[in-house]
Amino acid sequence: MIDDSDIQILAKYMPQFPTGSVWLVGAGPGHIGLISAMGLFALKQADVIIYDALVNKAFLQFIRADAETIYAGKRGGKPSSTQQNITDAIVKYAQQGKRVLRLKGGDPFVFGRGGEEVEALAKANIKFLAVPGITAGIGGLAFANIPATTRETNQSITFLTGHDASGIIPSAIDWSNLAKGAQTIVMYMALKNIGEICDRLMAGGRERHEPIAFIRNASLPDQQVWQTNLAEASEFVQMHGITPPAIVIIGGNIALRSRVIDYALPFYQQVSG
Ligand code: SAH
Repeated sequence: MIDDSDIQILAKYMPQFPTGSVWLVGAGPGHIGLISAMGLFALKQADVIIYDALVNKAFLQFIRADAETIYAGKRGGKPSSTQQNITDAIVKYAQQGKRVLRLKGGDPFVFGRGGEEVEALAKANIKFLAVPGITAGIGGLAFANIPATTRETNQSITFLTGHDASGIIPSAIDWSNLAKGAQTIVMYMALKNIGEICDRLMAGGRERHEPIAFIRNASLPDQQVWQTNLAEASEFVQMHGITPPAIVIIGGNIALRSRVIDYALPFYQQVSG
């Protein structure tokens, strides 16, 4: 187990967390074991922790007794003015001379608006450190026993979001070219537009029978994994009532899962992936 002497060792390698600065930390997809040592260190140091809806509340057990916590819950589809409030709060606490930990789900710079937050900090003359996290589109696959790549199936991965700032299917993506050029596709926030996404991919030449998998609440105790094919995906999501947060994967690499699943150890004391 990790004790104080381990923390002392880690501390030797950690950068400064100066007062009046912000650490933007990725917490990983949810499992408490998937935060980085640097993130854990930041939790123990921070004066203020501003955390998102997708961050596991169990992390708050690590914070100092006198630290302040702020829930910055914001789920898809809500007005973007909320992001402004979050950014304002981060700036405000840093300007008060606090060590601010901005804890975000997954990786802060993957579909997480971390870029906007550090730009706001730069504008306000506030120093920051961006600490990477395990993004759901990678970490979620491991606990579902779906390798992101296998030599036989794919030499590339494409990450995309299923909706843009206004909630509609991103028009900046050339779906026809994507269908032809991409191998494995890993999609965030893709449930809402799943029918249209699959239609466009099939129109662009993807096979109707190509496997598609859904991982809901990846790495959490109630993780669920489903598999179907592109042609049936939309109806499947409806029928099984699959709701966010979920990662959607399209590609031949999904097939390996069924060959190994019986040998996968559980990632909690009870649950298996
Ligand atoms: N920065 C985050 C992504 C934030 S966008 C990251 O790097 O993972 C929010 C989307 O991420 C969700 O709608 C879902 O598509 C995905 N996501 C985040 N956590 C997840 C989880 N535990 N299980 C499944 N999907 C998740």
